[in-house]
Amino acid sequence: MNIEIPQPDHSDSSLGCGPIRPEPDASGASLRHRVFESVRSAGQISRIDLAKQLRVSPASITALVGELLDLGLLRESQDTTRASARGRPPVALSVQPDAGYVVGIKLARSQHTALLVDAAGRPLAQASLPCAHRRRSLAQILDETGEVLDALLKEADLARADIACIGLGMPGMIDHATGQMVWSPLLIERDLPLRTLAEDAFGVPVAVDNDANLVTLAELWFGKGRAMADFAVVTIEQGVGMGLVINHRLYRGAGSLGMELGHTKVQMDGALCQCGQRGCLEAYIADYALVREASTALDPTDYANSAPDVMLQQLYEQAKAGNEAARVIFRRAGRFLALGLANVVNLFDPPLIILAGERMQYDYLYADDVLREMHSLSLNRDATPQQVETHAWGDLMWAHGAAALALSDIADAMAEQQG
Ligand SMILES: [Zn+2]
Repeated sequence: MNIEIPQPDHSDSSLGCGPIRPEPDASGASLRHRVFESVRSAGQISRIDLAKQLRVSPASITALVGELLDLGLLRESQDTTRASARGRPPVALSVQPDAGYVVGIKLARSQHTALLVDAAGRPLAQASLPCAHRRRSLAQILDETGEVLDALLKEADLARADIACIGLGMPGMIDHATGQMVWSPLLIERDLPLRTLAEDAFGVPVAVDNDANLVTLAELWFGKGRAMADFAVVTIEQGVGMGLVINHRLYRGAGSLGMELGHTKVQMDGALCQCGQRGCLEAYIADYALVREASTALDPTDYANSAPDVMLQQLYEQAKAGNEAARVIFRRAGRFLALGLANVVNLFDPPLIILAGERMQYDYLYADDVLREMHSLSLNRDATPQQVETHAWGDLMWAHGAAALALSDIADAMAEQQG
């Protein structure tokens, strides 16, 4: 079991950001767009290496780089990654940092987190806003979002008009393509045009996604997933989410709602889930499921009127202190998690599964016996075992993912603009 608590440092823009694709991208994006993305991914790269990487002639690269330089999207600098035997160091290309600023915002139940990055993906400022635990209206959530956005911009001495795009993520069923919020555990309403309402509220283009896709984008753009073609991220927070990367791209499915691992059924007519259906995986392992069972293990005088998070912490402390009933609750949740992970392995066979989220502080959920059970339920159990890592990222990493969402959203418009 490899438990990793990485401390990302994204301040060095020479490292680049974004997926590192060994093969030319077959997405259909224009060559100019691919040149821009390749430079951003590399951090610093020469024209010759760019031509080799994209498998096109140096002359084509020189022409396209000239256009991107004229548009102010790229800049030339001395290549600090290469030593020069004599004379001047070679010239490298990098993204012009002030070509565009974007904001990534992760909306969550108890705190909203915002991050400002420049066009090269370098973080410039961050802000967070503690907020009420209860479900509330979208209008109120957008007020709170505006508050954290303005605090962030004040910190960076920028105005809303300076922002090219806001990436906005929240838990629930969020349709990235249409911008529709179908359902979210944060909200009392359903089926609202989240993206349009947010754009009206802030006067800035907005891209929306569910929070599991945010943390997956964070791994793909800034984390271990940058150089991996395929991997899965399973998030355990208020619910259970999943992000899936196939061939260096986030897979969203036809409905653009993301991978709802938490609502795959693990029991017919089973426990009631917050989605309204029964037997969903998250009805056995998400925090509300654990809290629901906590009353069987805790003394009522200890937890009366406690907030769910406080109650869950008490349950965990009791389990650690030897309370058998509390241990049984976590062990059972761990077994259901093993079942869910084994289903991911049997369906997608990803070389790496990253477990992320607040609940990763509860080590029962990724104990050795959970992983053993996952392997025993996986059909390819004689092959090399799946690599499972736990990344205990804070909300800021999720906000990085929201910023990546915004950066990829604007890259098209930036690279396609006419000089
Ligand atoms: Zn459900």
